[in-house]
Amino acid sequence: MTTCIQNGTLVTSAGTRKADLLIEDGVIRAMETGLTGDQVVDAAGCLVFPGFIDGHTHLDMPVSGTVTADDFQTGSEAALLGGTTMLIDFATQDKGGTLADALRVWHERADGKCACDYGFHMAVTDWNEATRRELHDMAAAGVTSFKAYYAYDALMVDDREMYDLLCEMREIGGILGVHCENGPVLDRLREKAVAQGHTGPEWHPRTRPSLVEGEAVSRFLRIAALADAPAWIVHLSTADGLREIRTARERGQTVLVESCPQYFTLTEEVYNKPDFEAAKYVCSPPLRPQADQDALWQALENGEIDILSTDHCSFNFKGQKEMGRDDFTKIPNGMPGIEHRPTVMYTAAVASGRISASDLCRMLAENPAKMFGVWARKGSLDIGKDADIVIYDPKADSTISAQHQRQNCDYTPFEGFRTAGSVRDVFLRGIHAVKNGQLAQTGCGQYIVRDKMR
Ligand code: MN
Ligand code: MN
Repeated sequence: MTTCIQNGTLVTSAGTRKADLLIEDGVIRAMETGLTGDQVVDAAGCLVFPGFIDGHTHLDMPVSGTVTADDFQTGSEAALLGGTTMLIDFATQDKGGTLADALRVWHERADGKCACDYGFHMAVTDWNEATRRELHDMAAAGVTSFKAYYAYDALMVDDREMYDLLCEMREIGGILGVHCENGPVLDRLREKAVAQGHTGPEWHPRTRPSLVEGEAVSRFLRIAALADAPAWIVHLSTADGLREIRTARERGQTVLVESCPQYFTLTEEVYNKPDFEAAKYVCSPPLRPQADQDALWQALENGEIDILSTDHCSFNFKGQKEMGRDDFTKIPNGMPGIEHRPTVMYTAAVASGRISASDLCRMLAENPAKMFGVWARKGSLDIGKDADIVIYDPKADSTISAQHQRQNCDYTPFEGFRTAGSVRDVFLRGIHAVKNGQLAQTGCGQYIVRDKMR
């Protein structure tokens, strides 16, 4: 059985071209004009993208005495509806635990539940000889990207451990992403604020100023240079961090830069909202002043941002964000976003004329596929690759609302955002999983064993 997507405009990193696309046995079989198939899907007037990859999610994750609102089922269904055909979630080692345990727990949470394909990064929180040996097992099991934290007592590693980890990345051909905030300093800022009676959510950004990110980015990049290893900066949010990245690249370092839609579309203004509504936007790093957002846009337009991920980590306002009503340090950190990354960035970046559809394709599909070792089968419209395909109708404008989202969360930070176009159909390895904006197939996601970064 073959499926032919006819009359669409195919998007590649090289540009766009009108052609039909033939799917057979779950892979792309041909791309030229004049094709037909057993089934025909008309994509006239639409853009045809490779399936998008979200390289930064937290699903079914216990945090701060609660668990994220989205599990692997709701999160992956939301992802697929938004055009994301693969997500990579952060399995996280417990202090005192092993990487193997963490990988097993994350498989238990995800296997059999996912609507889109998935993989896991491994967050290393307890560095010792056994952990060092286990990194090799992880690479063999298809986990080729890792994470370390400079913040959060339960997660953070020190500089000596960071150096060791980076040296080991070189051994196994892995890449290390780092949450760059100086944890001990921001903890002190938070303690001081609370001691002075500053307990409202507007104190969340005030106790995580841009220097807290810039310092950690600078330290990480210098240690990566000493270890001669590539460095992946996760969720960049500041001009200060960006300056450190430019300096490191001038030194000749390989720096892979990730940012997220919220840092391009929202500013710290949201923390002025009354009635504790600011808590909806409590995420780390926090939303930033306009000047930081302007710097990120400049970087995006210059091609200095490699990938756009979501950092999807959803908590309901009622019952979860409210845990911090009397003390902002008890608000669980994170926001939903896995469903809306492609439409938000298409609207803000492509429809606005800042970048081309090809540029977006690079940041949402090609670069994450290369970085995270799935380029052999995903990330571009190429013959022989998985038929992960998004049909985007640029004329079907819509409005984002919590009421109409699949994300299992009682709000969205993009409430009322007017989108330029929307995702119409999605194919996952040839399975027609989203039809006219509706989920038609679920539970078809497969775990993807990943190679090394290309
Ligand atoms: Mn983080
Ligand atoms: Mn995160």
